[in-house]
Amino acid sequence: MTTPFNSRQAAPTNGSGAATTRSTTSNQDWRCTRCDKLLGVCRDGRMHLRFARGHEYLVGFPVQATCRGCGTLNNATAPAR
Ligand SMILES: [Zn+2]
Repeated sequence: MTTPFNSRQAAPTNGSGAATTRSTTSNQDWRCTRCDKLLGVCRDGRMHLRFARGHEYLVGFPVQATCRGCGTLNNATAPAR
């Protein structure tokens, strides 16, 4: 008879009832509306696009880009918060 190891459930209850872990970074993934492929990352109010061979672009809104996976033209009008 072994003792069950229940200490894996780390649930700190320090007053605030917010259970969801919320990242403090302002980065936000921009994904294809059709195939959910990552198109870019929104940071500091601008979109960071990354292409092959190290080509990277920081563009302002609104921004349009075609998905590399399915070719769908995606449109982001404002930075998601
Ligand atoms: Zn796509």
